[in-house]
Amino acid sequence: TPAPSSNFIRTIIDGDMESGKYDGRVVTRFPPEPNGYLHIGHAKSICLNFGLARDYGGTCHMRFDDTNPTKEEVEYVDSIQEDVRWLGFDWGEHRYFSSDYFEKLYEYAVQLIRKGKAYVDDLSAEEIRAYRGTLTEPGKESPCRNRSAEESLDLFERMRAGEFEDGTHVLRARIDMASPNIIMRDPTLYRIRKVAHHRTGDTWCIYPMYDFTHCLSDSIEKITHSVCTLEFENNRELYDWVLDALAVYHPQQIEFARLNLGYTVLSKRKLIELVNDGHVSGWDDPRMPTISGLRRRGYSPEAIRNFCERIGVAKRDSMVDMALLEYCVREDLNKHAPRLMGVINPLKVVITNYPEDQTEELEFINNPEDPAAGSRMVPFSRELYIERDDFMEEPPRKFFRLGPGREVRLRYAYFIRCEEVIKDENGDITELRCTYDPETRGGNAPDGRKVKGTLHWVSAAHAADAEVRLYNPLFTVENPNEGDDFKAFLSPDSLKVLQHCKVEPALAAMEPGSRCQFERIGYFCADSRDFTSEKPVFNRTVTLRDTWAK
Ligand code: ATP
Ligand code: MG
Ligand code: MG
Repeated sequence: TPAPSSNFIRTIIDGDMESGKYDGRVVTRFPPEPNGYLHIGHAKSICLNFGLARDYGGTCHMRFDDTNPTKEEVEYVDSIQEDVRWLGFDWGEHRYFSSDYFEKLYEYAVQLIRKGKAYVDDLSAEEIRAYRGTLTEPGKESPCRNRSAEESLDLFERMRAGEFEDGTHVLRARIDMASPNIIMRDPTLYRIRKVAHHRTGDTWCIYPMYDFTHCLSDSIEKITHSVCTLEFENNRELYDWVLDALAVYHPQQIEFARLNLGYTVLSKRKLIELVNDGHVSGWDDPRMPTISGLRRRGYSPEAIRNFCERIGVAKRDSMVDMALLEYCVREDLNKHAPRLMGVINPLKVVITNYPEDQTEELEFINNPEDPAAGSRMVPFSRELYIERDDFMEEPPRKFFRLGPGREVRLRYAYFIRCEEVIKDENGDITELRCTYDPETRGGNAPDGRKVKGTLHWVSAAHAADAEVRLYNPLFTVENPNEGDDFKAFLSPDSLKVLQHCKVEPALAAMEPGSRCQFERIGYFCADSRDFTSEKPVFNRTVTLRDTWAK
């Protein structure tokens, strides 16, 4: 991971460190709502918040923003923790749940009512919306707005006690129904929801809203810099209002541009739809932009951290190319992934002058980029598989691979020459008959003759039968969010499953989840769910070269 480059948030923090604004402390937080799995956009926020804490000697809190009882589940809390840890970050003892603050938040709400800064409203949700006005039209005051503090307090206590039905009352801040910022037109702070909560059970039937909860959670935890995405720019006025109205410790909210990535969607709501409607196999489907999907696809934490560093932090929204994410994983895998041989579209080759019952072992360098990776022995015998694409019966001029009468090198093995092409009754090629030159063992000819093509291959008798999953983008357009239904842009070609691929024995012996390069084909990983040594299953992480460039 390159050294963190400066950005406008670091400039703000540098200023605060100099002026002693927060006594030289830096405390950030990552505050997901546990209503889905984390995606690559969240990774940007994680790297930013945990990265700031790391670089300024501060702390970053892991906070579950779990104030909405209907959408949240323990499964999500567990997956979020797993994903943040996998990315390489550690919150130590600093794990919090907004729901732990319910009692405190209630007391703060009571204080606001006492100060005349909040009131219980009997309007329905639709009426409140209608009264709120528009950008060009001021809002209308609710008939309940001038209710006495005593009356509001009594009603609020009875709301908590469960006396009223859902939707009959809300607690609202008394701010300004004519504010140019619509969020400031007496926003709702509490509503009645008679639903059990995943942590507090049936203790509560009123739940605080995001804008009330978030600033106070930051305040309670003595956060210094509360970093969030640009959609919350208008909410900052309310963030500041609540903290000022209660005269409590006051962190500062700073907004940055969210990550948008081409040819995918980064919204938990939309990702949930893909999962629930069966467009993908689950949250960790390797096509998903979720952290668990990228992990299963073969991405390393380093590659994702690197990506987040490269995209930087800005004040303006933009679309990032998928090619950049792929560049980052390729760069990392090039350094770390061992090279092995897998033939994804096999064509049989018989070496007619090689003894029938002979097997020999040839030495392969595991990773030319990493001498410490060592070497391994690969079996060679009379019958082999090569890639069907590596043979052409009538090769054009620039095709340097195998053709009738041509000679090529088998990687680290021998030169072979194609002597005969065998076809079935349909005229499809089923087998090539070749001869090898025993003098070329290791891949070079003592007489100095050259060949242009080097092919990967697998010994048929030793090969394992593998399933290989190739992935393409989930969507056919760069921005699936433009339009009525993002699902209309789902690609029918996002997954291609190949059966009966032939892989060398070392590939069948891999650990599920581990990463490798299939020589000349791409970077792959052994699928963490489905791979067994009897039935190896590989996911293509990324091709060897950028396929986005036209
Ligand atoms: P979604 O719309 O996918 O549900 P969210 O913002 O509602 O995302 P939260 O769980 O509330 O999801 O997000 C936790 C943190 O991650 C927030 O601080 C949020 O700003 C940040 N975050 C979410 N999506 C992105 C993104 N695309 N780019 C950068 N940060 C993001
Ligand atoms: Mg959210
Ligand atoms: Mg959102």
